[in-house]
Amino acid sequence: MLLLRCPQCKHTMNYQAATPTLAGKRKSCVYCGKSFDVGSNVVRKSG
Ligand SMILES: [Zn+2]
Repeated sequence: MLLLRCPQCKHTMNYQAATPTLAGKRKSCVYCGKSFDVGSNVVRKSG
């Protein structure tokens, strides 16, 4: 599980990575809806 931070609204959210490779992965922020790059917005890796 990763902790991500949205670059737009700065909220943090958990992200379950399906594969070890994050390059090119994008996620839509659950708070503001912005789609952002997963690999460049990881706050912390856990588990
Ligand atoms: Zn956001």
